[in-house]
Amino acid sequence: MREFDFEPVRMPDSVPALRQEVRELIAAEIAAGAFTPQRNSWSSFDPGFSRKLGERGWIGMSWPKRYGGSERSMLERYVVVEELLAGGAPVGAHWVADRQSGPQILRHGSERARGEILPRIARGECFFCIGMSEPDSGSDLAAVRTRADKVDGGWKITGTKVWTSNAHRAHYGIVLARSAPKSEDRHAGMTQFICDMKAPGVTIRPIYNLYGGHDFNEVVFDGYFVPEDMVLGEVGAGWKMVTGELAFERSGPDRFMSTYQLLRETIRRVGDAPDDRQAEEIGRLVAHLATLRRMSSSIAGRIDRGENPATAAALVKDVGTGFEREIPEIVRRILPTEPSLGPGSGFDELLGSAMLRSPSFTIRGGTREILRGMIARGLGMR
Ligand SMILES: Cc1cc2nc3c(=O)[nH]c(=O)nc-3n(C[C@H](O)[C@H](O)[C@H](O)COP(=O)(O)OP(=O)(O)OC[C@H]3O[C@@H](n4cnc5c(N)ncnc54)[C@H](O)[C@@H]3O)c2cc1C
Repeated sequence: MREFDFEPVRMPDSVPALRQEVRELIAAEIAAGAFTPQRNSWSSFDPGFSRKLGERGWIGMSWPKRYGGSERSMLERYVVVEELLAGGAPVGAHWVADRQSGPQILRHGSERARGEILPRIARGECFFCIGMSEPDSGSDLAAVRTRADKVDGGWKITGTKVWTSNAHRAHYGIVLARSAPKSEDRHAGMTQFICDMKAPGVTIRPIYNLYGGHDFNEVVFDGYFVPEDMVLGEVGAGWKMVTGELAFERSGPDRFMSTYQLLRETIRRVGDAPDDRQAEEIGRLVAHLATLRRMSSSIAGRIDRGENPATAAALVKDVGTGFEREIPEIVRRILPTEPSLGPGSGFDELLGSAMLRSPSFTIRGGTREILRGMIARGLGMR
């Protein structure tokens, strides 16, 4: 049961000043008209804003200085990330690289990959996408069919990935492929590769989402060549790395703050005189938010201590994405608002876009059914 022990973390003494610094940057950027707070902050792609964060040392914060990092703790990173999300900052360009690809390269990459790629990520100049899902392999990731064939000096990748967010804008993708034929152990024989998304042999086609936007893609690898030093970790050990990566991916504040702007605007709108129903619903949402924050920051503390709290992370993602998905539904019930999609229609547009995006929250990064299976296993029930 230690797995579900969400003990509170003690934030470092540097945190209040750091928090203030992030708030000041966001306020200055909004005042200068650089962005308006985004409802979909970590999917909003703005390379210029990423570079500004890079200049402050707020990307790759916990990485060693020799790779462009700032050698700060995961908890300091946590505070920067939650402030950026709360401020609705457009952090989508560097998000995946900072959250999971960079840490994977730091742990498992070759010296060339670390030296060439990590400093560029930390400067906010190099972006990543994730090549896990395939047309016949989403929840059942062990079914991947993308093949990696050994050739002189490296590997040739052949296969199709799908739902690859930002593949059309990213410099690199970390791609999971089968490097040995299937055996009795379904998880054996898989390897991760750092792939140059602009190279010959990679074709990227858009897939439009329910909102009408182009965030994700189909990516076809047709004999794309990866040099040996762009293999991530040990050949055949890809499965273990993928599951480790998902602990970073699933436990952060991005898993419960996607509709935070809508909640905040609802509270502003209701003002000082909520009716009983509004007070009850808003009170419940705010209490849940505080609890989720405690759980999620506790996991950041465990990652900081070198643990791999994958099951606890699955719990945060399940509860957290259920929470962020629930917000637009509750807002519709407590405020007489007609959702709209017209740009610039303020609160109605905030609600309309949240409603169209929220079905994806519980799917991206692993569906609820899959997460609950993991949680049941963690509880010893499977
Ligand atoms: C907005 C968004 C962005 C995404 N970005 C990326 C990305 O950048 N890179 C990437 O690789 N992928 C990405 N994905 C894909 C995502 O990871 C998959 O959609 C997800 O893992 C589910 O896989 P699937 O779509 O193939 O559904 P399936 O696996 O086919 O599942 C269909 C349904 O069956 C249920 N189900 C499946 N297996 C079981 C089981 N064993 N027990 C009980 N129920 C089960 C699922 O819970 C689900 O409800 C993204 C998805 C979304 C929505």
